[in-house]
Amino acid sequence: MSSELNDFIRQRIAKDLAAGALPDGVVTRFPPEPNGYLHIGHAKSIHLNFGVADEFGGVTYLRFDDTNPLKESDEYVQAIMRDVKWLGYDWGDRLTHASDYFEQLYQFALDLIRDGKAYVCSLSNEEIRATRGTLTEPGVESPYRNRAIEENLDLFRRMRAGEFADGEHVLRLKIDMASPNINLRDPVIYRIRHASHQRTGDAWPIYPMYDYTHCICDALEGITHSLCTLEFEDHRPLYDWVLDNIKVNCHPPQIEFSRLGLEYTVMSKRILLQLVEEGWVEGWDDPRMPTIAGLRRRGVTPGAIRDFCRRIGVTKQDNTIEMSLLEFCIRQDLEGAAPRGMAVLDPLEVTITNYSGPGEMLHAPWHPQQHALGSRELPFGPKLHIEREDFMEDPPADFKRLRPGGMVRLRYAYIIRCDDVVRDAAGAVTGLVCSYVPESKSGSDTSGLKPAGVIHWVEAGSAVPVRVRLYDRLFKVPAPSAATLAADFDPASLAERRGWVEPAIAASDETRFQFERLGYFCKDNVLPGVFNRTVTLRDSWKPPPAGAAAPRKGG
Ligand code: ATP
Ligand code: MG
Repeated sequence: MSSELNDFIRQRIAKDLAAGALPDGVVTRFPPEPNGYLHIGHAKSIHLNFGVADEFGGVTYLRFDDTNPLKESDEYVQAIMRDVKWLGYDWGDRLTHASDYFEQLYQFALDLIRDGKAYVCSLSNEEIRATRGTLTEPGVESPYRNRAIEENLDLFRRMRAGEFADGEHVLRLKIDMASPNINLRDPVIYRIRHASHQRTGDAWPIYPMYDYTHCICDALEGITHSLCTLEFEDHRPLYDWVLDNIKVNCHPPQIEFSRLGLEYTVMSKRILLQLVEEGWVEGWDDPRMPTIAGLRRRGVTPGAIRDFCRRIGVTKQDNTIEMSLLEFCIRQDLEGAAPRGMAVLDPLEVTITNYSGPGEMLHAPWHPQQHALGSRELPFGPKLHIEREDFMEDPPADFKRLRPGGMVRLRYAYIIRCDDVVRDAAGAVTGLVCSYVPESKSGSDTSGLKPAGVIHWVEAGSAVPVRVRLYDRLFKVPAPSAATLAADFDPASLAERRGWVEPAIAASDETRFQFERLGYFCKDNVLPGVFNRTVTLRDSWKPPPAGAAAPRKGG
């Protein structure tokens, strides 16, 4: 039951358990609305809700908050379940939907009407908004506020029967139009919406509002701690009011914690949807997106996301986390787990003039420390590719890689010397003429030579051509917004290169690799022959210059 984590929520739960207040143990829920894909901010909430239940021997519901049929879909439902599972959490048989409780919610509403605590209001949406008042002025009571109970019952039943058009009436709680808390000024709890629901079809022409639905679902499921983000703090009095005024024998405490914000990206589902719908990105799973599906496609492991959530912790202070922390967690998780191979992204051809024969097969471990990862065959021969930037014609004195007349070790192979440079008509370097030192083979080197540099390479005849996608921050500014999306979006956040990988990488069943000296990469699970760069090897990122608006990708 103990946890290395000790935030205010865990302290509260431990106290409730110690006081004997939770005879049936801890019960939490993660309540996503199926109106988009989950993002890393949701991961924080998932990690908290499933995490605390697990640590204290409790259980967690995955409950879809599906009360707005216009924005919700089964595609989102399926994606959310896939992502929660992938993150490593198990809701067992506790998969529920707000829509499972539509009938009970309706019955509670009838009870509230009978008790004189709810009324059918026939003002328009605009009129209701206009009479709500402001932070400094009280609201104005609706002319329908004192409708007779019988009339309210009759109208609400007819709303349910589908007799009225959208917007003709709503059901409101009768609380206090002068309350300093605007959420308590006779909030709307039902609206008419002749819309097909992805689960209940056309059974309901009225739909309950979030503030009414959420607390009742929590109570019906026996949730012991209703954990939500800080923006619901002002809704807590309404949460409590509803549960205090219906006949249900469970009243969970609502406890708020701060939302996760991440620099250079967005957590708003509205903006994420806009990025997808307007074609700024290739979809919800675009590897630049902060969505779980995007992170997965980029090669991020569930362990890295859980580690990130653990490190950021849970507090009441709103904060924005630096992307470099997430990247640090990603590297940490891949460092010992990902096999290491060689790829060349910007090739410069090397011809080894003193190498006779077609080639040979070398052997190299997949990881210098993790011997369990095994080894692979590594072809070597007279034609190789090295990285263009590993050669300089006129380098500074401390340049450790290849220069005319200089030597370098090819990783897991031989020492080579650059004897000559091949140029095209314009004088640009197109290849190197080298010789190798036959007695310098890695593992049995008797050459006595000690070149300062070791570089990566691939054998030209066997290397497999691939497309490599290099990703960067989606936005040029730390806190992008919907209003300035075009200026904030960074079109350079995706760059594609043609590259070469050693054949063992292409043939392997593994999906994630470290390409030596280049970064962590993974095979794209959508586009064949594409590798995505998950993260660079070091934190080398610099903010880009803010500039002109970016052109949109698609339509
Ligand atoms: P919407 O604007 O559609 O309500 P939402 O991000 O709140 O978007 P929900 O599906 O309602 O999405 O969120 C499910 C749960 O995840 C909620 O309990 C919410 O508080 C939590 N959550 C959402 N975003 C974050 C975030 N950035 N950090 C932590 N928790 C979050
Ligand atoms: Mg929400």
